[in-house]
Amino acid sequence: MNSRTFAIIKPDAVKNKHTGLIYDRIIKADFKILSSKLIKMSKKEAEHFYLVHKDRSFYDELTDFMSSGQCMVLALDKNNAVEEWRKLIGATNPEEAKEGTIRKAFATSLGENAVHGSDSNENAMIEIKFFFKESELI
Ligand code: ADP
Ligand code: MG
Repeated sequence: MNSRTFAIIKPDAVKNKHTGLIYDRIIKADFKILSSKLIKMSKKEAEHFYLVHKDRSFYDELTDFMSSGQCMVLALDKNNAVEEWRKLIGATNPEEAKEGTIRKAFATSLGENAVHGSDSNENAMIEIKFFFKESELI
C-alpha cells in the first residue's frame, strides 16, 4: 500500500550543489514527489522539528546547522515509503552507510549528513504537516 514519508535535503547538500543529483535518485527510485519547496528554517523551527533530541549533546550543533542555510523539504509517496527512503539514504553516520546510498555519496560528516528521513509512519505524518498544508500535496 502506498504511504508517505518526509525528506529534507539538508543545508550541506544544498550548499554543495547536490540538490539535483539527490532529486535524480528520488525520481529513479520511483518515489512520487507530492510536494517540495526550498526553505530556510529558523533556529526555533529547527529546535521544534528535532525536539526528540533536545537532551542529546549534539542538539545545539544540529539545530544551528539545520537553520544555517537553505534546505529542500519534500513529501514523498511510495509503497512502504518510510522504510524504502531510510534504505535509500543509508546509515546516519556516513562511515557506516552502504555503497549506493545517498549518505555514502553526499554526506560530509555524522552531523552534516545530506538528508533527513522520517523514522515511522506516525512521524512522517507529523513532519509533513509541519511543512506542508494538505492542499499542497498533489
Ligand atoms: P537520522 O537522521 O538518521 O534519523 P537521528 O535521528 O539519530 O538520525 O539524528 C538526527 C540527526 O542529528 C542526524 O541525521 C545527524 O544530522 C545529527 N546527529 C545524530 N547523531 C549525532 C552525533 N553523535 N553528533 C552530531 N550530530 C549528530
Ligand atoms: Mg531520526
